[in-house]
Amino acid sequence: PEADMSDLAIASRTVLKPIADIAADAGIPHEAVEPYGRYKAKVDPSLLTGNRTRRGQVVLVSGMSPTPAGEGKTTMVVGLADALASTGAKTMIALREPSVGPSFGMKGGATGGGQSQVLPMDEINLHFTGDFHAITSANNLLMALVDNHLHHGNQLGLDPQRITFKRVLDMNDRALRTVVIGLGGPTDGVPRETGFEITAASEVMAVFCLATGLEDLRARLGRMTVGYSYEMKPVTVDDLGAAGALTLLLKDAIKPNLVQSIAGTPAFIHGGPFANIAHGCNSAIATNTARSLADIVVTEAGFGTDLGAEKFMDIKARYADCAPSAVVITATIRALKMHGGVAKEELGAENIDAVRAGLPNLARHASIIKKFGIPPVIGINQFSKDTQAELKVVTDWADENAIACAVADVWGQGGAGAGALAEAVVRAIESPADFKHLYDLDQSVEEKILTLTQEIYGGEGVEYSVKAQRMLEQIHANGWDRLPVCIAKTQYSFSDDPQLLGAPQGFRLQIRELIPKTGAGFIVAITGALTTMPGLPKVPAALRMGVDGQGKAVGLS
Ligand code: ADP
Ligand code: MG
Repeated sequence: PEADMSDLAIASRTVLKPIADIAADAGIPHEAVEPYGRYKAKVDPSLLTGNRTRRGQVVLVSGMSPTPAGEGKTTMVVGLADALASTGAKTMIALREPSVGPSFGMKGGATGGGQSQVLPMDEINLHFTGDFHAITSANNLLMALVDNHLHHGNQLGLDPQRITFKRVLDMNDRALRTVVIGLGGPTDGVPRETGFEITAASEVMAVFCLATGLEDLRARLGRMTVGYSYEMKPVTVDDLGAAGALTLLLKDAIKPNLVQSIAGTPAFIHGGPFANIAHGCNSAIATNTARSLADIVVTEAGFGTDLGAEKFMDIKARYADCAPSAVVITATIRALKMHGGVAKEELGAENIDAVRAGLPNLARHASIIKKFGIPPVIGINQFSKDTQAELKVVTDWADENAIACAVADVWGQGGAGAGALAEAVVRAIESPADFKHLYDLDQSVEEKILTLTQEIYGGEGVEYSVKAQRMLEQIHANGWDRLPVCIAKTQYSFSDDPQLLGAPQGFRLQIRELIPKTGAGFIVAITGALTTMPGLPKVPAALRMGVDGQGKAVGLS
């Protein structure tokens, strides 16, 4: 019967504990808890004085190159954390906040699934505690100030054609990608072409998630480049004098949000940057606050090890000093079959040879984690259609190659299905690690991108478009060479071509554009086509949604 229940149905029959009880169990003093309704609270890290010496171990959940359905990283985070908590280890979950846009499109929410969910799932997936609103407002206040500056004489000489910042909205709305503003006449602003991005793709979101405290938040916001002057000099938020107001709009949002899993494990859900244009994990403040409260913090980075995990190590861990002690690579039989050459429609049928043929993809992900000096643990996210013979192909292969590996039925059983995985993770945490970043900040941006291409993606070299070459010159001229790089690349392949499955080699990575994010503190390198404002599919998930007679959500997934 369980197999027929939707995530929402499982979520809504769960009896939640009052959030004050969850906070008390997590060791959060009463004064630091700011309740938002019954089952959500913000936690003020500055009032956690008693716990400052604890530094919990970080377990990062990443994945192999996924199928379009997603391989269950969030579900794995929750089930694994529940399993660790049930052994008596003080455990916390740290996850991203879902973006509303994709929830109404195709992807669905981001609160896990089956018996491994964080709750209340409808509230987390919808407006939650208003952080996305605050981030949207901060971004759009900045843009209002920019256009107002143009209107009132443009003292900074900001070139209206070279304003790189855009307004944002948390919605998938392709019609807003390119717009003309300032029409109407002399009192209605200066006409210029611009566009909207989705809030999760904004630099304010990335800054919010990398800031280590209020002061750092203000400094990073101030360093953001909004555009260039007629002399091609960068113009920053500090030049406009706006960093204080932006920080003010974010002062409450920056406190991590506390919720619980179905099993009652405490979870911070805070910040939600994309994993292509940004680094793709929850806020540094949430991760480090969780570390001050728990011995083990289980967290997620978006997409595969080539994207989210690499960025976690080279960007987030650098700024927030939170290197993981173990990395779980979420693998599925269906993704292995896909990399083994099976068509999407056939993934449900048993195919042992295809599972075997897909293993090089998983092997490369394991070797990527080893390059950072961290032990990988493969967590096979079990689906009801997987056969024992298929699962055994993977566990035998992992044994032969001395890679820790366990099958986990987190979706069907929650923490009870992840006992073996939890044991493997604890062994990995206890084994000697020797964390290192992949590249040094002193290397040039080109050297960093080449290192990533060769060491992580398995490619041969890098090619830059004419536009990207011009941007490289600007990056050198402005002294931004020391920033880490954040590559925006397809999640479906190690290469920049989504069709190249398995473990491709010998390709040349094509860099189309480079975008300095001087506040977040990284240079985005864009490969292939990338939109920062997604569209809705022909039949959006929104068309299935509604509210029942009791005022409860219907159709969220
Ligand atoms: P990711 O974080 O990798 O994008 P999620 O954990 O959000 O993946 O899972 C994507 C979707 O797949 C969710 O709707 C989840 O309920 C579902 N799912 C995950 N694991 C399983 C499983 N083992 N069996 C059935 N459905 C699953
Ligand atoms: Mg996820």
